[in-house]
Amino acid sequence: MFGFSFAKIAVLVVVIVVVWQAFKYFGQAGQASRAKAKENPPDPSRIETEQCAVCGVYVSNSAGNCGKKDCPYG
Ligand SMILES: [Zn+2]
Repeated sequence: MFGFSFAKIAVLVVVIVVVWQAFKYFGQAGQASRAKAKENPPDPSRIETEQCAVCGVYVSNSAGNCGKKDCPYG
């Protein structure tokens, strides 16, 4: 009559509901992970440092050199 049966419409409705529920589920999961990240944000000012064995100065790992001549980083 219209080219598609009730069964096809039912399947289409089921597919739409499943996709809708999946989006809803993943949307909530994304919001939850974002909320969790907001609770414990990474501190941009925090830099990993190491104390120089020779001069005792704390230098960042990325710097690798406190600037002194006998420094193990130098
Ligand atoms: Zn040093």
